[in-house]
Order: sequence, then structure tokens, then C-alpha cells
Amino acid sequence: MNGVTPRRKTRQVRYGTVAVGGDAPISIQSMSTFRPVHLEKLFDEVTALADAGCEIVRVAVKDRDDIDVLPPICDRSPIPVIADIQFDYELAVAAAGAGVAGLRINPGNIGAGERVARVLESASKSGIAVRVGVNSGSIERDLRELYKQDPGRALFESASRSLEEIEVLGFTNLVFSLKSSDPIATVEANRLFAASCDYPLHIGVTEAGPALSGAARSSVALTLLLSMGIGDTVRVSLSGDPVREVIVAANILSALGLRGDIPRIISCPTCGRSWIDVAGIAEQLERKLMGIRSPISIAVMGCEVNGPGEARDADIGIAGTRGGAVIFRNGKVIGKCSKNCIEKLLGEIGGMVGKKDDCK
Ligand code: SF4
Repeated sequence: MNGVTPRRKTRQVRYGTVAVGGDAPISIQSMSTFRPVHLEKLFDEVTALADAGCEIVRVAVKDRDDIDVLPPICDRSPIPVIADIQFDYELAVAAAGAGVAGLRINPGNIGAGERVARVLESASKSGIAVRVGVNSGSIERDLRELYKQDPGRALFESASRSLEEIEVLGFTNLVFSLKSSDPIATVEANRLFAASCDYPLHIGVTEAGPALSGAARSSVALTLLLSMGIGDTVRVSLSGDPVREVIVAANILSALGLRGDIPRIISCPTCGRSWIDVAGIAEQLERKLMGIRSPISIAVMGCEVNGPGEARDADIGIAGTRGGAVIFRNGKVIGKCSKNCIEKLLGEIGGMVGKKDDCK
């Protein structure tokens, strides 16, 4: 793989049907914007995320009402559900017994060692993995000065302390995450931690920001880490619709050659020659195809003068022309369609690929 270091060897854990670490594909995660008590809204969003190619979803569990509805959510969800618990260890204990595929806790706010031990004991009983998430906000008091000088090292030191405390308890069904809103600090923290142990890493930049700037900031950190062979499951954190997180994450993995089963959309920037709404068509295609698992590449080009030639590497595509668009395959025109050509293109694509079903 050009420029990408072979993947770091890690233990493997499972979130339900999805393996993380070891030789498992690098998985894509996101987080619902709804609490479990908003059951139908949450379920609709989780379904949209799964359709977009999300493989693991995290939900914020805030109180007992959330716990009560976790069982039906986990039963109906097409992808494994991880309960994210902050502050209240008793909620984490209850969530572990409510059918979730994993827990996410932050030892920095869940309380003293005894509380963490209770959470791990319940996770152990349920046979589920626990992600230990360390971030800028949970840095211990005595590491705050170091954090100002060297945030990456401070995050690493904090995560190492948590690991030591947990390993003493004999619990090893673990995933770690070390996150900052600073991509470079995130990279440094994960680089140090990856060199110190063989636990799988969930990587991402926390509070990355609004869609465009957040995607850029996440891409910097994820690309650097993944190029070093570090990272077993990824989350791109963006403000707003989490489906966009999945699209960005999938494209990062695809661009690095780490997931060859993700469709690639190629679209021209358009210019005065364009006959069609390239951006609109490309965005619609992107949404419709993200749940498909196939290495297919699809081009959307504004004109037929340069379109098929410029997108010669695409498996299939369209190029605008007077009154509509032409469909081309491997750089050669094979037919025509009207301006509203997405359905016809999707039909052609459907004949070339199989619908994804491996994360259900
Ligand atoms: S494909 Fe056509 S419309 Fe698109 S940038 Fe190239 S020349 Fe312009």
C-alpha cells in the first residue's frame, strides 16, 4: 500500500457482530444526536447511519429512562450499539446489562477506582468490550501543567494511568481512545500510546468543528495516524447530521487504500462548459451509494468534451451534454440519459455491484 505503514498489530475485541483490531477491517463509527428516550428519532437516525455505511453507533445514556429503552433499541438496531456514559458509574453498570454491545467510559469523570471496577465487572459479566476514552477535558489535575506544554504527552500519560489501573483488575476487553480538538496533539498522544501497548485504538479528533473545517481537521489527524498503521476504528466528529461523519470517514479510509470496498465518487469542479448540476448529482449519489460495499468508482462530469477522458479511471459515470448527459464506462460512451439521470445511473451501478449486508 503506497505510503501507508502496515497496520499495527493489536488484540482483537468485538462489539457484537463487529470485530475491532487484529485483522478486522478498520471500522467506521458515529454517534447519534438523540438520546435513547427519543426512541423513534434515534432509531431513524441509526438506520440512516447504517444505510450510509456506519458500522458501530454510540448513544449517550444520561439517566434511568434511557436505560429502560436500551433493550428494544439494541434489538432493533441494524448495527452494534455502544452506550456512552459520563459521570454516573451506576448507569454504566445498568447499561452493561441492558443488551448493549459495548460501553464507553471516561475514567477521568466516572469516579474512584472502585467505581471503575464495578463497571468493568458488569461488562465482564455481559461479555462486552469497554472503550476507555481520554480527552482534553478529563486530564488529571497534576497533568494540566504538562498539558499546556505538551498536550499529546499529557493525554498519553493520562491514558497510561487508566490502563495501569484497569489491567490490575484483570480486565482486558478494551479499546482506548485519546482525543483532543488539536489534530497534532491527537496524533502525538496516539503515537505514544500505540507504541506502549497492543490494545485497539479508536481514533478521531474531538469537537472537530462544523462540516467543512471539521472534516479537514479530522482528515489531518486520521490520515497521519492511519498512514503510520495506527487506528482500528474511526470516528469523524462533526457538528450536525452524523451521516456526514460516515461519508467523510469512509472517504478517508478509501483514499488511503485501507478499505477497498467503499465506492469512490469522482466529480469535476465544473466550469463554464458544464451542462448539469454536478455538485447536486454527486452529493445525491454519494448519499445513495455509501451503504454499498464495492470498490466501484463513479464519475460525474459537467461536459462530454472532457468528461469521459478526464475520468478515464472511473468504472462508470455521466458527463453533461446539451439536453442531458451521456453515460460512459471505462472512458467510453455507452448511452444517453435525460437531465435527471441519477436513476438511470443507479440502475447501471446496481447491475455492477451487490448491496452491502455485512454490518447488519
Ligand atoms: S469536465 Fe467539463 S465542465 Fe467539468 S471541469 Fe472539465 S471541462 Fe469543465
